[in-house]
Order: sequence, then structure tokens, then C-alpha cells
Amino acid sequence: MSYTGAMNQIYEVGILAAAGVFGAVIGSFMIAQVWRLRAWQLRQLAEDELTDLERKERQQLESVYGKKRTVRSDRSVCLSCGHQLAWYDLIPVCSWLWLRGKCRYCKAPIGKAEFAAEVGLAAVYVLTTLLLLGQAHTLGWALWPSLLLVLAGEALLLGLFVFDCRWYLLPDRLVFPFAGLGLGYALVHWAHSGWQLSTLWSGIVAIGILSGLYYALYLFSKGAWVGLGDVKLGLGLALFLPDWRLAFLALFAANLLGTLIFAPLQLFGKLPRGQQVPFGPLLIAGFLLVFWGQFVILAFLQQNFVLF
Ligand SMILES: [Zn+2]
Repeated sequence: MSYTGAMNQIYEVGILAAAGVFGAVIGSFMIAQVWRLRAWQLRQLAEDELTDLERKERQQLESVYGKKRTVRSDRSVCLSCGHQLAWYDLIPVCSWLWLRGKCRYCKAPIGKAEFAAEVGLAAVYVLTTLLLLGQAHTLGWALWPSLLLVLAGEALLLGLFVFDCRWYLLPDRLVFPFAGLGLGYALVHWAHSGWQLSTLWSGIVAIGILSGLYYALYLFSKGAWVGLGDVKLGLGLALFLPDWRLAFLALFAANLLGTLIFAPLQLFGKLPRGQQVPFGPLLIAGFLLVFWGQFVILAFLQQNFVLF
């Protein structure tokens, strides 16, 4: 291997390591934001709008976060004993491993979701960076703006994923910023294509597939099958996949995943009829498969892998 080859490899490993650490830190931050956003959401509801479950949840969150705190100003606390966590309890991944998943003060098991989110987003960031760096020669100037927009978008997707799994909701406070980042990504993609009209049309059809279709279903079923949250999420996802063929594949992947996961559950009676199924996580999983898949296939066709 030549000297510049070795230097390049060290540079690439450095960037990937930085992406991993960055992912763990942002993952930890996002999960804290999810709890804060949930506490804020429950505070917005009037007393008679709450279900029993939501009232209990709000009491628990209030006992920990207090009544008047705003979304951002409070510090992280143990949800079990309310003890304020010190900076050394908040080091992503390391703290959880060191404390073996228990609160330092009350020994209640905490942070399993945080740990999963930190490790998960670290892996997502490393993979995304690896795949986009592999296309540095085709992306040219668009590499860094694309990479930053995608990484920011993936952090919001983590929040949306957790929110929809737990509460069957895709909050506007996450889904609109995600669509904004998607618009930035689509514009970078369009500019990189030399403002070609066909690229623009392909992007518009992608929005029709991933968002318009859900909007039609939403109108047709009067909100029973899909929520407006899915429509807004689909818009952001389409902007990150501004090509109608990829958008179609993502929709197909999401439905295939849904069938593979939920059909067996229903068959064995583990999923009661009429049980709500969150569609957001499936859409997100389908999107990631296709988003990464496009770069994996390019790398295979060119036999060009970073690090190899
Ligand atoms: Zn505790």
C-alpha cells in the first residue's frame, strides 16, 4: 500500500470513529428530548381529555420533571427516584455499561431504551458515513451537505421511531423539522443533477407515492387506517429519496416488513383484532433499507468499498 493510501485509510477510520461517537451522543440527547416532548404534550391536554393511562403517565412525569418546566430547560433525572443525574451518569454507552443498567442512587433498572438508542444511532451513523464516503467521487461537492442532512434526519427518525412505537404518535415538532431537512437534501440532490427537469419530476412523483397515497388513504378511511402523521412523515421520507423508483421500493419494503412482522403475530393470536399497529416505524425501516441499499448496490457495481 502506498503512503497516500495509508493516510487515506487513517483519515477514513478517523471519520468513521467520530461518526460513531457523535451518533451515541446524539442518540442519548434524542431520547431525553423524547421524554421532555412527551411531558410537554401531556401538559397541553385538559384534565377531561386524558385517558386513565395518560393521567398516570403525566403524574409520573410531573413528579420527576415538575409542573412548570419548559421542554428544554430541565436537566436529566432518574425517572424512578427523581435524582438529578450527574454528568458522569450521562456519558453515552459507557455509563450504562459501568452501572450495569441501574440507577446509581436507587438501583432501579434504567436506561435500557437510552442504551439501545445510543448504540443504534452510533451504528446508523457509522454505516451512513461509510456508504456516502464510498460515493465521494460521484457525489463531489454534494457529499458533505448530503451527509450532514442525512445524519440530522436520522436523529429525528430515531425520535419518531420511539414515539410511534410507544404512543402511536408522530409529533409535528419532530416530523416538520425532518421534512425541512429532507427539502434541503432534495435541493442538494437536484442542484447536483444540474437542475435537470426530469430529476424534479421524479422527486414530485416520489412525494405522490410516499405521501400522497397515504393522504388518499387517510381521506378515504377518515383517519381510521392511517394518521395524518404518516402523511407528513411520508413527505419527509420522499424528500430524502427524491426518485420515484426508490420511493416505490421504500413503500414496498415497508409493507413487506409489516406483513412479515404482523401476519405471524396475528396468525398465532398474539395480536388481538383491532389492535393498533404503528405504521411509522415500518415506513422508517423501509426507508432506511432503500436509502442505504441504493449506496450498497452502487458500491457493489463499482466494486468500490471504503476501507477495502
Ligand atoms: Zn434512581
